[in-house]
Amino acid sequence: MKQQIRRGTKVIVVGAGLAGLTAAVKLKEMGAKVSLIEARDRVGGRVFTIRGAFAQGQHAEAGGDFIDEGQHEIKRLVKEQGLTLRPILRKGFAFVRYPGPSRRRRRILSGEEAWNTLSHALYPLVAAYRTADKRWDSPIAKQLARQSVAQWLEEGKADSNMRAVVRSLRGFFLADPEDLSLLALVDQLAGDVPGPAAMSRIEGGNDRLPLTLAEHLREDLRLNSVVQAICQDRNSVRVRVETSNGQETFIQGKYVVLAVPTTTLRSIHMGPPLPAMQSRAIDSLKYGRTTKTLLQFDRSFWRKKAKPQACGTDAPTGAFWDANEEQAGEVGILTLMAGGQASEDTQKIVAQRGVEGLVKELDWMGSRSATLLHSRIVTWEDDPWAQGGYAYFDPGFDPHLRSWLGRRHGRIIFAGEHTSLNWQGYMNGAVESGLRAVEEICAMTLRNEGHPV
Ligand SMILES: Cc1cc2nc3c(=O)[nH]c(=O)nc-3n(C[C@H](O)[C@H](O)[C@H](O)COP(=O)(O)OP(=O)(O)OC[C@H]3O[C@@H](n4cnc5c(N)ncnc54)[C@H](O)[C@@H]3O)c2cc1C
Repeated sequence: MKQQIRRGTKVIVVGAGLAGLTAAVKLKEMGAKVSLIEARDRVGGRVFTIRGAFAQGQHAEAGGDFIDEGQHEIKRLVKEQGLTLRPILRKGFAFVRYPGPSRRRRRILSGEEAWNTLSHALYPLVAAYRTADKRWDSPIAKQLARQSVAQWLEEGKADSNMRAVVRSLRGFFLADPEDLSLLALVDQLAGDVPGPAAMSRIEGGNDRLPLTLAEHLREDLRLNSVVQAICQDRNSVRVRVETSNGQETFIQGKYVVLAVPTTTLRSIHMGPPLPAMQSRAIDSLKYGRTTKTLLQFDRSFWRKKAKPQACGTDAPTGAFWDANEEQAGEVGILTLMAGGQASEDTQKIVAQRGVEGLVKELDWMGSRSATLLHSRIVTWEDDPWAQGGYAYFDPGFDPHLRSWLGRRHGRIIFAGEHTSLNWQGYMNGAVESGLRAVEEICAMTLRNEGHPV
């Protein structure tokens, strides 16, 4: 059945990240009248390409970086918008145990070996979870959710190598083993393990996708505008917006797509209020701490034939990878992605010893042979409109509540990476959730009903 919406239906979309932009553009294409409201002075949200800060016109990603092989929704959108994907990091991720700042001897495991070790140790739990169809309302999910990954390591008397591999996953989950629920890890292992398949970035920078989408909207997009409250009755919604100069305006519409992280969603007043279960889900969802450091050097000392170009580590500086192999120039950029406690550790190093302190920490990788040209550091927990990198599930999150994150509340439809069941934490999850929001609105307008709340 072809999606349809009644022409001229007024939809207010909140948040111009990939979720909100996808929904807004698709709705407009179908004939809806769209207003997209964004708090920042730019579109893209957690897709944030740093330009103009590096030599030889190079750029790098401070937010969403890799697009994986199986992420069909974002790949389709990239193609539709006339953009191109460039393959990167063809050898995938490896794992290296941090040897201390100045020692060079270290053991490297391929990503496959590292995930296989984990999969083997968790096999009985993964099998039981699969038998329950990976349902978050199943008894096995409830049991796994209560336990932290650290407790599981302790109970299984895991050796130091296994502990180091698991700690290195904070560059992926943005949470240390103490803060991550075992369910989150088992769920990952029961699905696609990250990394082994082909990865890519958008040619010219990932922000070209949000920027291209925004071109379709022009006067329908309002930047520097914060949504403060949403009220609804049987027939319409009313949104209170505050602009950066303190002016308050009201926008009336038929539906709202609320595509903001739960960190900021919590402070939007809702009338009538959300159901108690939905509020609990929103209030208890955690966002991971993460600092991304982009270091441009005069020579790419990490680009050596026998060496991996992307590695998870348990180092205080976090995971690292080549940030721009696909770009021209003799110089190169290295990304450090410090998730969980590593985010704080990285910030401490910078506060005490400057960026040079971080470079010194990379001595074991050969940083001494290169000169630092430029750097940029972005700490996402300090970003007021994200307050973290992306959502993660801690042992305090009741898995029964997960489905409430994406459940419609009358005329308000929720979108954003945190609402995606298949691709939570990914750009693809954001795009997929935007498409789902469009489908929900189409279904509602076709039924042509008032929506009791
Ligand atoms: C460091 C980092 C690395 C990442 N790496 C990857 C990766 O390699 N691959 C991958 O697929 N994904 C990655 N991600 C995740 C990916 O970037 C996100 O999942 C995705 O971009 C989220 O999109 P979104 O639309 O859900 O939310 P957002 O991008 O956060 O968009 C929400 C928008 O809402 C706005 N907003 C918030 N509150 C209000 C309000 N009250 N009123 C108006 N506007 C408001 C915000 O300013 C923001 O623009 C990474 C993220 C980070 C931070």
